[in-house]
Amino acid sequence: MKSYRKELTFKTPHRREFINITPDVEECLRESGIKEGLLLCNAMHITASVFINDDESGLHQDYEVWLEKLAPEKPHSQYHHNGYEDNADAHMKRQIMGREVVVAITNGKLDFGTWERIFYGEFDGKRSKRVLVKIIGE
Ligand code: ZN
Repeated sequence: MKSYRKELTFKTPHRREFINITPDVEECLRESGIKEGLLLCNAMHITASVFINDDESGLHQDYEVWLEKLAPEKPHSQYHHNGYEDNADAHMKRQIMGREVVVAITNGKLDFGTWERIFYGEFDGKRSKRVLVKIIGE
């Protein structure tokens, strides 16, 4: 069995952002040489997500509005967590959008449904943060 590991780094200019990282993950898969197996991709930070959904900008705006309703960023003082930090909302947004995705690898490709793409969801950005890609198989 082959095994591959890589860390991708993202630094978003805004506090919250969604990035389609499918091309980066596909590059990892090419690099790994693995044709059949499983790929895990996870955020290595507790205020960021990796998730699969549609690459459609309207949907991403809808996520932003929905997440702000569930866990509004401001006022920062509304959260117990915000004693020394201001990112309680980001922890909550990450929780609902998820930590990781697992994708089947078939014939050297991500075995996706038609509209599935992998996204990095940043909720407390403007600093370098890491995403892990781990692939096992043959
Ligand atoms: Zn925090």
